[in-house]
Amino acid sequence: MKKNENKIDCKIIEKEIPQYLNNELSAGEMRMFLEHIENCPDCKEELTIRYMVSEGLDKAELNNQYNLLRGLEDKMKASYKKIRNYDIGVFFVSFLVFVTVGFVILAILFAIL
Ligand SMILES: [Zn+2]
Repeated sequence: MKKNENKIDCKIIEKEIPQYLNNELSAGEMRMFLEHIENCPDCKEELTIRYMVSEGLDKAELNNQYNLLRGLEDKMKASYKKIRNYDIGVFFVSFLVFVTVGFVILAILFAIL
């Protein structure tokens, strides 16, 4: 059962790999994507291969392999940063809404009193 669920996930993740490499995933999608990649060696390998192919075609040199992997690591780090910034953004918007609502309630209370 668990294995089947994983398989379905892998199919979705596999489809998202090109989108991830083209920076087309939203922060929410990227979070799910990276979470799966970190926990699924198969998909991580697939991502690594696709990344190397997509970058390698430009750079062509095999001894750049190390740099390519570093590039993928940097890309994933940048993705986590992006997700974190997104979370901070959501937090601030929630906070602003909270403060605004509180202010409106206070204003109404003062108007009544
Ligand atoms: Zn997977």
